[in-house]
Amino acid sequence: MYYNSTRNSDVKVTSAEAITQGISSEGGLFVPESIPQLTADDIKAVGDMKYADRAAFVFSKFLTDFTDAEIHYCTDNAYSTKNFETDSIAEIAHLFSGTYMLELWHGPTCAFKDMALQILPYFLTTSAKKIKLDKKIVILVATSGDTGKAALEGFKDVEGTSILVFYPEDGVSPMQKRQMRTQEGSNVGVCALKGNFDDCQSGVKAIFTNDDVKKALDSNGMMFSSANSINWGRLVPQIVYYISSYAELLKDGEIEAGEKINIVVPTGNFGNILAAYYAKHMGIPVNKLICASNINNVLTDFINTGVYDRNRQFYATVSPSMDILISSNLERLLYIMTDKNDALINEWFGKLASEGKYEVNDAVKAKLKEEFSAGFCDDEQTKATIHAVYEKYSYTCDTHTAVAVKVYNDYKEATGDTTKTVIASTASPYKFSAAVLEAVQGSKSDIDEYDMIDKLAELSKLTVPAALADLRNKPERFSDTIDKTEQKDYVLKSLGI
Ligand SMILES: *Cc1c(COP(=O)(O)O)cnc(C)c1O
Repeated sequence: MYYNSTRNSDVKVTSAEAITQGISSEGGLFVPESIPQLTADDIKAVGDMKYADRAAFVFSKFLTDFTDAEIHYCTDNAYSTKNFETDSIAEIAHLFSGTYMLELWHGPTCAFKDMALQILPYFLTTSAKKIKLDKKIVILVATSGDTGKAALEGFKDVEGTSILVFYPEDGVSPMQKRQMRTQEGSNVGVCALKGNFDDCQSGVKAIFTNDDVKKALDSNGMMFSSANSINWGRLVPQIVYYISSYAELLKDGEIEAGEKINIVVPTGNFGNILAAYYAKHMGIPVNKLICASNINNVLTDFINTGVYDRNRQFYATVSPSMDILISSNLERLLYIMTDKNDALINEWFGKLASEGKYEVNDAVKAKLKEEFSAGFCDDEQTKATIHAVYEKYSYTCDTHTAVAVKVYNDYKEATGDTTKTVIASTASPYKFSAAVLEAVQGSKSDIDEYDMIDKLAELSKLTVPAALADLRNKPERFSDTIDKTEQKDYVLKSLGI
């Protein structure tokens, strides 16, 4: 299996090269040249494996330059109970008949990002060895809150790497900020940026593709890579849990072989839902992929009209990890949907950069409609949904997952579709305790974040993840805040260049 770049179809690299580079040199994203196919027997067989082996099976289709031993080294280290609080790694909770919550947040940082970022450092160091790269890998991360912490945990003290994370100063929850500022490890750095997530991400992308910076790193024996979902090594682990959950439901007799399901994903950068798209096109029977957004509803409009327009007000919401107006991974979807038309991708994403807006052609519009359904909700509706789900099903969901539940309820009401449905549950409710507690109780509390966690534990009867409980006593190590114009110099200074 080789990988092309969305902005130049002639680029052809192995998975080890794609993963170490993160992004293609002309700014495109790496995409596998074809989508491997699973048979019904494959899917059935997956159900009998433990999670690490399910993952290894899927990776063997995409990372064909890795040996079996290399793949198992990665999966066995990443997906064990050393890192995850449940044996099943990705837990399925039954919300009500035919509706399943795929809980992806039982890892060390309590958000679904762990599913990929626990394994990415293994992929990256294995890839570097394979291509005989003897450079230090510098991971630059832009985060809307969850990626940063998950990447820090994944890469801390990993030999041959260092990691630097930028987060929007006022764009993350207090708990997310605490998690990052208290990060341990000798190769880690964390910095706040005056701006929003898009500013962080645009800055990081610009530094990545800046030739002077690249040269400076090179002459110091270093190179950049990415832990954001622009890196294929982030995306491929996310395909696994959609295949895994289908196989699991099949094994448990919840669905029949070949039965279609809907998948609902609370979406920001379009990575998680793109992974579901891949799972579908590998052979998992899927009816609709339902894209759920918060009030930053650029994707809802795009899927419904074919016009992507980021020229709109940016809102800070109670689901901060979805406060995004430039969804990077859409580029991969459009590359697939245009049958690898790199000229069109360059045209559209060039327009996005210069005018903040582009419109896809009719063929792509039709494909979007066929594959996806999209909706959004505001903060009040998010909180009302948390409240209703808690009252009705004694289930406490986080703010991002609640957006998905609300959009799914609206979809069901509008379409009458009764297809069984998997909802991606992307974070532990404890990670956003202030908003979740307010929603559950119906009123704000003025107690501190840790007391909120205790209160939420009392109400939800869920155990508090140890990683969050421990934060209370950890010293803060990182408190820098910079202007977005200073980002490049900050990176160089941090690296001692
Ligand atoms: C990152 C994140 C999302 C959005 O996922 P994308 O892959 O960026 O679409 C949703 N919920 C939570 C909790 C997240 O951390």
